[in-house]
Amino acid sequence: MVNRAELEALFRKHGYADFKWIEPDNIVVGQWVRMKCVFGCAEYGRNACCPPNVPPVSECRQFFKEYRSGVVFHFQKRVARPEDRHPWTAEVSQALLKLEREVFLLGYQKAFLLFMDSCGLCPECPGTPEECKQPRLARPTPEAMGVDVFSTVRQYGYPIEVLKDYAQTMNRYAFLLIE
Ligand code: SF4
Repeated sequence: MVNRAELEALFRKHGYADFKWIEPDNIVVGQWVRMKCVFGCAEYGRNACCPPNVPPVSECRQFFKEYRSGVVFHFQKRVARPEDRHPWTAEVSQALLKLEREVFLLGYQKAFLLFMDSCGLCPECPGTPEECKQPRLARPTPEAMGVDVFSTVRQYGYPIEVLKDYAQTMNRYAFLLIE
């Protein structure tokens, strides 16, 4: 049984106040998300945590069904230049990994983080799991796991829109699956 009060205190200790509890069974998974990865994403085949280096969509869907409780963390940001978004998301991912570790050490052995951007922990990604430089820290994005982030976070009242240019404020979401 998840101790929400204890975990929320931990989240706040790490500086996270904008989050919501979710039932992972409500996470919307779609084959169309994978198609967007395969066709049209520059990360395809170039990031060790992105397709094709992830399970099939059917297995991703099954993975989420093995959890009863999770949290979605909301982050907002405007960047001056498009290339500025990756250093920002990498920094957030590093911080969230520390939180995932602490949740695990509280006894939640299934704790698993999904980054809000493709794994950018290293300046250059060799592109294959075999060559990953930090395999203990590398995590996929929700999208890499077939998650329709738009439909999923809207269920919880969170904002998300297709942005027309990089000057607009981004709404980004990381997921922490707990139990
Ligand atoms: S940890 Fe580094 S090498 Fe591994 S997937 Fe992330 S960026 Fe690529």
